[in-house]
Formats: sequence, C-alpha cells, structure tokens
Amino acid sequence: MATPLTSSLATLAPLILAAIMMCSGLAHAELERFEHSPKPDNSLSFLVVGDWGRKGLYNQTEVAVQMGIIGEMMDIDFVASTGDNFYDNGLTGVDDPAFDESFSKIYTAPSLQKQWYNVLGNHDYRGDVEAQLSPILRALDSRWLCSRSFIVNAEIVDILFVDTNPFVDEYFTKPGGYNYDWRAVLPREKYLSNLLKDVDSALKESRAKWKIVVGHHTIKTAGIHGNTEELVKQLLPILEENNVDLYINGHDHCLEHISTADSPIQFLTSGGGSKAWRGVMKWPANPDEVKFYYDGQGFMSVKITPAQVDVAFYDVSGSVLHTWSRTKEIFSIV
Ligand SMILES: [Zn+2]
Repeated sequence: MATPLTSSLATLAPLILAAIMMCSGLAHAELERFEHSPKPDNSLSFLVVGDWGRKGLYNQTEVAVQMGIIGEMMDIDFVASTGDNFYDNGLTGVDDPAFDESFSKIYTAPSLQKQWYNVLGNHDYRGDVEAQLSPILRALDSRWLCSRSFIVNAEIVDILFVDTNPFVDEYFTKPGGYNYDWRAVLPREKYLSNLLKDVDSALKESRAKWKIVVGHHTIKTAGIHGNTEELVKQLLPILEENNVDLYINGHDHCLEHISTADSPIQFLTSGGGSKAWRGVMKWPANPDEVKFYYDGQGFMSVKITPAQVDVAFYDVSGSVLHTWSRTKEIFSIV
C-alpha cells in the first residue's frame, strides 16, 4: 500500500523529471493541444471565416447571418478563423470595444455559439497581440480561443493552427510605418525554427485519419497577395512530407480552391468575412490549378467523417459556389 510519502513522491515524479529535462535542455516545447470530440456518429463539421472584424460593415453582418443558417443546417461543432480578426490594427487592449462590436455582437446566431478557434493575421499583429491571446477575452465571451500556434485533436482529424506572420520577411524589413507587436516572437530565427520543429513533430505523431493545417497567409493563391514564398520554402515541404490533406488560409479577401499536380494538398482560401471585391486576380502559370476563385464575401464549410471530407464555399446570400470532396479507405493504416 502506498504511504502518503510514496504517493506524494509519485505525484511529484513527473514534475521533477520535467524540471531535470528543462535544466538539461532536453525539453522541447510542444504546441498547445485542445481536444474536440466528434459527434456520436463520428463526424465533425465546422465553418471557416477569415478577414472579418469590421464592426459589421462591408457585409460582415450579412456573412455572419448566412454562417448562422448554414451552421444550423450542418449542426457545426466549431468555427475556425483564418485571422485578421480585427481591422485595421488588431485590438488596442483587452478592453477594446471592437471585440464586442466586431465579434460578440456580430456572430449572434444560435448555431455560432460554439468554440471559435482563431489564429492571428498581420492586421492583428499591428495591435496588442497579447490582448487577443488573453484569458480575459475568453471570460468576456467563452467562445473565443486564440493562440499563436496550437492543435485541435478531434480524433478523426488533427487540425494544426499555425502562426504564419513571423515567416513574412517584409513585415520585418519593410514594415511600411506599421508597428508590429513582435513580443514573444523575437528572436525571430529561433521562434521560426522551433515552430517548424513543433509542426513537424505534431504531424509525425498524429494518428488521425485526416490532417488539416490552418494559417493566415497563402501558400498557393491566385489572389492579390500572391504566394507567400517564405511558406512555400519553409512550411510546405513539412506539410507535404507529413501527408497533410488541406491547407486553409485567409489574407486574400476571396474564396478559392487551388489544386496542383505537384502537391497532393488542397489549398483553400476563406478570407471573405467582410471587405472584398479587390478586382485583382493573379492567374498562376497553369490556370488549370485554380479550381475555384470568387473575388467576393463569403465563407467555407468542412464536414469530415473517417472516410470522407466535404468542402463547400458560400457567398453572402448563402448560395453554394463550389464544392470539393475526397474519400479515403476507412481501414487503411496510414
Ligand atoms: Zn492579412
């Protein structure tokens, strides 16, 4: 029988081991993990919206209304945001009324009262980033969950949310008069190399049937910002090596689906949460790669079962613009 002393030693053992590993430099910071169980029928549904926080303007409210309707129809489990959550310059602090005016008071439909998993966009980094990460916001609206990089384990799918902002050279070399809040990101090289290691090991450890990565910036796009070459060089090889199925981003204020012969990954942009219609499209060298491009407002849905993933894009009136599906063998080992 365990004495109080031995049982308390047993309790302390993992902590002591962790302390020893940290002191010896063996510890490797892992991405924060959140568990999100699928429904009893082993399916999972969620909506993706990006580039949205404009106090309801530029059709943000209209998109939110349609998200509520589609969310109800699909009985969604959560919402994912691809970043640029608050325009123009993120939040000024945890008491910024924009949180209420652009989030809580906009996404009011019953079906949207679910967990929101949010990454940061470049506009968010122009404000007080720590505010968006603060538990104070979660206390104000329990749906809110924003972190720099994290994993949602949903059994049939692992979704990695990756902070893509520090990859972009231009924000450091030509900030264009903007003040980016790089606290906790510097030194940049170390932050990026740790992040890439964490993403790689999380994907390698994943036993989920499907793997999805969400970030703010484009990897492949026909939109105005073009491909983010830093991500093409540094992140994409890791995603390809680890059999990621979908890469989902915002940043370009459009809806699009790109699929190329040289990558098995589907590149999906959902950045139509409010202001859109830039009127600019940059066709890639091979126009056949662009399966769908819509230069307007809207959002995306994803439904996943162990055997199938279904993606759909919707415009501001809730009309389906484009769909894509893929199946996998249920009993395959990988
Ligand atoms: Zn952006």
